[in-house]
Amino acid sequence: MATYDVANRSAIVSGAGAGIGRAVAELLAANGTAVLLVDRDQAAVEAVYQEIIARGGTAATFVADVTSPDWGTESVRLAEAMAPLGIAVNNAGISGPSAPLTEYTPEDWHRVISINLDSLYTGMRAQIPAMAAHGGGAVVNLASILGTVGQAGASAYVTAKHGVVGMTKSAALENARTGVRVNAVAPGYVHTPMIQNITTPESYAALVALHPMGRLATAEEIAQMIAFLASDAAGFVTGSTHLVDGGYSAR
Ligand code: NAD
Repeated sequence: MATYDVANRSAIVSGAGAGIGRAVAELLAANGTAVLLVDRDQAAVEAVYQEIIARGGTAATFVADVTSPDWGTESVRLAEAMAPLGIAVNNAGISGPSAPLTEYTPEDWHRVISINLDSLYTGMRAQIPAMAAHGGGAVVNLASILGTVGQAGASAYVTAKHGVVGMTKSAALENARTGVRVNAVAPGYVHTPMIQNITTPESYAALVALHPMGRLATAEEIAQMIAFLASDAAGFVTGSTHLVDGGYSAR
């Protein structure tokens, strides 16, 4: 078995237009995966597509909002038009407004839960049967360090990410004998557009201080863990959440 083999299959990557999704889409494509780039931002996803094609990779785009109930079935259809579906990276997410639970509006609450949690249900209910139909595959869901601890002002996001960890465990147990492995990745804070949009220089420094390694992660460092879990090298890994947090949780 080739180490970290991800070739000869297709992958669905949601939120592929920026940040972690972009990094993992480029990494998988560089290693021979045909990647379906799913994002609601058409210009962003087109730029990633052009970059992959220019480097000799295989990709297609699907401009979609993952809150749409049929994004899962449609993305499976488009990915399988390239190659059998072997990988799904459910990555699209938003941080949501910073506010105490008691001040969260119902609209904001449901939007954060819908994008960060419900979209994994609508994604996996299409991805898992397609993978199982041809012998197996790997789903990697994006949780967060905030899927393992709480944070004041981020209750909707924290709730969604704890839900991602639980959904990952149950889906993995249900598929332990189907060949479909289901895992989650829990990054510490990562230097991506998500963080750049919500921080000032002072609050960025406060985030850095949470990590004993004294910096945030790069999107590429998170992509490496996702690609490992997606690969044949992780054949006995299922149902678990993998921290990539620069020591955040070790204290
Ligand atoms: P980002 O904001 O940099 O990029 C997210 C991408 O997802 C964008 O291209 C955006 O257009 C797309 N997207 C957002 N909502 C969408 C929707 N409803 N439908 C389709 N596409 C949508 O985000 P990121 O920092 O790369 O985060 C990616 C994932 O990693 C998220 O699930 C996030 O919660 C998680 N995460 C991020 C961090 C961090 O510090 N950046 C830490 C832990 C976990």
